[in-house]
Amino acid sequence: MTDALPRRPEIEIGPAAAALEGQPALEILRWANRELGPKLTFATGFGAEGCVLIDLIARAELPIDLFTLDTGVLFPETYALWRALETRYGVTIRAVRPAQTIDAQALTHGPTLWERDADRCCELRKVAPLRAALTGYDGWITAIRRQQTPERATARVVEADPRFGLVKVNPLVGWTHDEVWAHVYANDVPYNELHDRGFPSIGCQPCTSAVAVGEDARAGRWRGAGKNECGLHVKDAPR
Ligand code: SF4
Repeated sequence: MTDALPRRPEIEIGPAAAALEGQPALEILRWANRELGPKLTFATGFGAEGCVLIDLIARAELPIDLFTLDTGVLFPETYALWRALETRYGVTIRAVRPAQTIDAQALTHGPTLWERDADRCCELRKVAPLRAALTGYDGWITAIRRQQTPERATARVVEADPRFGLVKVNPLVGWTHDEVWAHVYANDVPYNELHDRGFPSIGCQPCTSAVAVGEDARAGRWRGAGKNECGLHVKDAPR
């Protein structure tokens, strides 16, 4: 894919990132809403962090578009959480779906592509739909935290995302795992019940397993495949 400059070049990303570092997540969301307005969207994968951001956005009545990538193979518990969040906060979380259903993909690429080529499957079911969904937006919010993976360790509050030509805003980037869960419990935020059953990080059902005590939180994602990112948040060269 060809890199693209952010569609809002007047936003000075470096100074904004420095000014917002350490600010409350709600203040970062308010800044993003002011700067990017109706051209701002939030792609949630329904992790605890995403639920926290939906809680903050909805309670502050920020008019930010919300969507999720429905790969067609999410856990039933994730679909239940999706409905619970919409009901609790009175919001709509749009479904962004791949071009092909699971059955159509099986005809084209063979069954259970995730077992043979997870990168290709993620490209078809996550990255390509995300790329299409982000067309027309100038900025996107993500729920990533620096502590989650080595790839995310250098993420900043505001970044250029050259893959999509967007300003990328990461309001929880400096939060710890405990801070996320303190917010969830203090505000009675709906969360995926699989978290209570040994799944700290939850993606598609075929590619997510429970983790043992002492394992890394993302050890259950693509277990044994030598992969820990779906390609949505790969760190690009700084610019
Ligand atoms: S996480 Fe697994 S099932 Fe989901 S898109 Fe990626 S490879 Fe396919």
